[in-house]
Amino acid sequence: MDGTLVTKRLEDNIWTFNEAVELTGPQMDAYLINGAKRALVIDTLQEETSLYRKVRELSSLPIDVLISHGHLDHAGVSTGDFYAEGCKIWMDEKDLPLITKWGREAKWFSPLKEGQKFDLGGYCLEAISCPGHTPGSMVFLERERQHLYTGDAIGAGVFWMQIPGALPLREFRGHLGRLWEIVKGMKDLKIHTGHRHQAPIQHDLEFLADTLLVTDKIISGEWIGEEKTMERRDMRIKYRTVSYKHIKDYCYNPENI
Ligand SMILES: [Zn+2]
Repeated sequence: MDGTLVTKRLEDNIWTFNEAVELTGPQMDAYLINGAKRALVIDTLQEETSLYRKVRELSSLPIDVLISHGHLDHAGVSTGDFYAEGCKIWMDEKDLPLITKWGREAKWFSPLKEGQKFDLGGYCLEAISCPGHTPGSMVFLERERQHLYTGDAIGAGVFWMQIPGALPLREFRGHLGRLWEIVKGMKDLKIHTGHRHQAPIQHDLEFLADTLLVTDKIISGEWIGEEKTMERRDMRIKYRTVSYKHIKDYCYNPENI
């Protein structure tokens, strides 16, 4: 697919690219961050083929690509274009088995590690491991301006913890707690997710605190949510979902707590 991309400038040096697969269907967001010396692209959408070209209209700097996790709507068909143009594409190796099922080649990806830093010149991002939604989910923090890019690790209002391959909620809680300790003093934290359309607000520190609260309430059994069934491709999954404030759907598998 080519041409449906909507580009929006979030700040001086930060853009989002939104892909809507169908108008009423899923929408994905990728990010471009320009520094003084280098640029970063976070995630590569799903089916959209113009992403590399659109990024190049806004940046002529050397580019690294960070993949938040190995789902097909975050490491999209454009990933191969960035690889072909000589960009390094970083992703936690634990998600390679997930993404290679969708025709993305293992050789495209370089192993992304906890604590790895990307200095763009005046803007430095740090990779922080936050497994749960997938075993290799990573978030990216810019400490000075307090920007946190979260893919699906911290969903925009919909948390998919019910899907096969997601970690038990208790494990996710451990990683979430560690992330909270790192960012809890950042009063101006802005959370940039992988599906911005799922929530009308700019997510902040309070949203992360609410995520911790909901996770704790589900783990303790205090909140059990509503039972639902999801049918997708060849999967039929029974799950439960909790809503709380701006968290529209925190989906989880009661067998995987
Ligand atoms: Zn995902």
